[in-house]
Amino acid sequence: MATALNMLSPVSREDVPFLSLREVNARYADQLKAAAARVIDSGRYVLGDEVAAFETEFAAYCGTRHAVGTGNGLDALALVLRAWREMGELVEGDEVIVPANTFIASFLAISANGLQPVPVEPDPVTFTLDPARVDAAVGPRTRVIMPVHLYGRLADMAALGEIAGRRGLLLLEDAAQAHGAREHGVRAGAFGHAAAFSFYPGKNLGALGDAGAVVTDDDQLAAYVTALRNYGSEVKYDHPMRGVNSRLDELQAALLRVKLPHVDADTNRRREIARHYQQGIVHPGIALPELVPGEAHAWHLFVVRCAARDALQAHLRDQGVQSQVHYPVPPHHQAAYAELAHRSLPLTEQMHREVLSLPMSPVLTDAQVQQVIDACNTFPEQSA
Ligand SMILES: *Cc1c(COP(=O)(O)O)cnc(C)c1O
Repeated sequence: MATALNMLSPVSREDVPFLSLREVNARYADQLKAAAARVIDSGRYVLGDEVAAFETEFAAYCGTRHAVGTGNGLDALALVLRAWREMGELVEGDEVIVPANTFIASFLAISANGLQPVPVEPDPVTFTLDPARVDAAVGPRTRVIMPVHLYGRLADMAALGEIAGRRGLLLLEDAAQAHGAREHGVRAGAFGHAAAFSFYPGKNLGALGDAGAVVTDDDQLAAYVTALRNYGSEVKYDHPMRGVNSRLDELQAALLRVKLPHVDADTNRRREIARHYQQGIVHPGIALPELVPGEAHAWHLFVVRCAARDALQAHLRDQGVQSQVHYPVPPHHQAAYAELAHRSLPLTEQMHREVLSLPMSPVLTDAQVQQVIDACNTFPEQSA
């Protein structure tokens, strides 16, 4: 069956890449090179004008009072928790509620600060934290709720904000996948007490290397993170805290300033591609993600579910369509979190067995999108 279909396919067809970073950045090649040249010629490479300007521009974009550049997204998450420890909001052993189905960085930021991750199962439709389960998981040591806007979809921030307010908890958004996602005029990063962004090259706003940022309306928190990312120092050679070195560098800041004005247009194209996939993929064995009205989904990833996930991935590969799994193993089944291995998290475990991410990026052409749709629809039904 697969062979017959292959014979019908045009021989000259090229693979549909999962994400071509080269093509993403080629659109701005001249501006990126000019920005790099500006930094090279400036003689200022760490904590200069480019970082300050990017922080102002990114805070304005998110609608927060502050943005503080960091070395990467994991550090941005960890530095918020670290700052709250320094501020006396958290003590060792306090619990942080986190989605069980997330990238491991969400967990690492918690344990790096002597805090306990409490994994909570997702809503099976939205893939994000289930507020009812969060409410039930709050215990005497719970201090923070850390929603993850997984795959680019905003978590239920109204419900989670209500729980945090009623229970007196801090709300830290892991917004690494959701740049610009917006609901009722509020963007990812502006719902919680603080948020962390990653500008890893593959993210919706990607640097050309590692980069991240913390955003917040809290002046004191911003000041702590600003000091902690720079050896715990506000005044050179004065160190009231044991900080780290996790600064956003001038070069990455200058490159991000080129790309930031284009994020919303890119996200609109992602939404258009998501709509095409929604309308075009009609295979009974492939469950599609919910189409979210408005702008609450930034479609970092388009993740389908299939009971025969590995067979589907192999079929797509045969049809010249690249795909990936986000993520193959949940954090509580990683050796790094052996103490959580006994937890029963069946929804999360099922998700990790069934999810498959289709190609998604603003540079996909309509023809490539159609090739993905055709490849999905020709998946032999008996395999599903
Ligand atoms: C990418 C990512 C991070 C970590 O960001 P880095 O810049 O790679 O350190 C954290 N959380 C989530 C959900 C991510 O997708």
